Amino acid sequence: MEKIVILGSTGSIGCNALQVIKLHKEKYSIFALTANQNVTLLTEQCINFKPQFAIALDHYANQELKKNLRELNSKTIVLDDIESMEWVASHESASTIISAIVGAAGLKPTMAAVNAGKKILLANKETLVMAGELFIKAIKRSHATLIPIDSEHNAILQVLPQNNKLNHKLHGVKKILITASGGPFRELSKKDLEMVTPQEALRHPNWVMGKKITIDSATMMNKGLEVIEAHWLFNIPISDIEVVIHPQSIIHSLVQYTDGSTLAQLGNPDMRTPIAYALSHPERIESGVEGLNLIQIGRLDFEAPDFDRFPCLRLAYEAAKMCQNATTILNAANEVAVEAFLNRSIKFNQIPQLVESSMHTIKASPLESIQAVLATDQETRSFATSWVDRHRY
Ligand code: NDP
Repeated sequence: MEKIVILGSTGSIGCNALQVIKLHKEKYSIFALTANQNVTLLTEQCINFKPQFAIALDHYANQELKKNLRELNSKTIVLDDIESMEWVASHESASTIISAIVGAAGLKPTMAAVNAGKKILLANKETLVMAGELFIKAIKRSHATLIPIDSEHNAILQVLPQNNKLNHKLHGVKKILITASGGPFRELSKKDLEMVTPQEALRHPNWVMGKKITIDSATMMNKGLEVIEAHWLFNIPISDIEVVIHPQSIIHSLVQYTDGSTLAQLGNPDMRTPIAYALSHPERIESGVEGLNLIQIGRLDFEAPDFDRFPCLRLAYEAAKMCQNATTILNAANEVAVEAFLNRSIKFNQIPQLVESSMHTIKASPLESIQAVLATDQETRSFATSWVDRHRY
């Protein structure tokens, strides 16, 4: 029986993971669930999955969770801070950690799991964007296993040679092609993009996801973060990672080989497929997702990304070609910008402006520790917050 910790169980990935786990109760049990504020859902999950530990980080949510579980005679023990998250993520009884907190908040508990040598199923891409170099070094040191949940990276894993000692040259890996739906504004002009509202940006054409990643998909920063994520996960130079717009989101990504072959993974856009593959890797299990009906789909389209209308993608490539610190700055500035856009403090087209301004202002230098990463993250957030105050519309 594999004992699982879900960091961010009340989110879109967390809920999809629990749906897959529910299909395989003989294989997987829940050791701990963590969330921030959504106490109603976390209570329900504790009753259904009976974890040993549960954490709601928010103080009031935590009090309510304790009260709810007491009234329901639950045996789940409620813990209450970030150190407790690190503790459950590195606990000797837990074998697999699903890292599904959104944003920089996921870094510390995910690193705790890495340092404890766990099997980590990674959805929280911001962790790799912020601290990829240190993260990968720590994985090697602790012999932790890292399997991506992000559908594109999961697809790449599926079409790369299944070899523990993957050697790109020897195995003829030439290039990675990451597909992107293009988001809800794929066809809008630069002028029209200035006027889009958070409600419009939250309407993704193909995927149902949390708010932050949905806005990142609309700006195409999500694809930029994924390019950086792919670089660290697969040890591929940034120059060999390309983005292809594919509006149907049926091909989740491709690998091109030196002999002219291009291998792709296809499937309905449903995160339960990559979650099931990550859980059972290298075997396969039922995910609850229907197979593709190619006749119904009829056609698959492709186009080149537009770096001018979607400058976030250009900025991510630029940061990725610099040192690690530049992507830490990119990530922190983007998190502040997305929140400010959702609060209607800045416009959609100011998101890349804020990111670019942060990249030009904060000094980018190599990072040698997680403390240094967190200090750069904080410095960028302070700058970005004051930028928002100065540019509020
Ligand atoms: P959601 O916003 O739906 O869920 C986020 C989860 O993190 C919730 O459980 C939330 O708790 C918790 N959380 C939020 N803030 C904090 C905090 N400060 N400390 C601790 N926990 C916190 O996000 P998604 O599930 O959409 O995305 C999660 C991660 O997975 C992101 O990094 C995203 O980029 C990545 N990803 C998501 C995909 C998707 O389809 N959704 C696809 C590929 C990658 P609460 O509910 O209580 O607020």
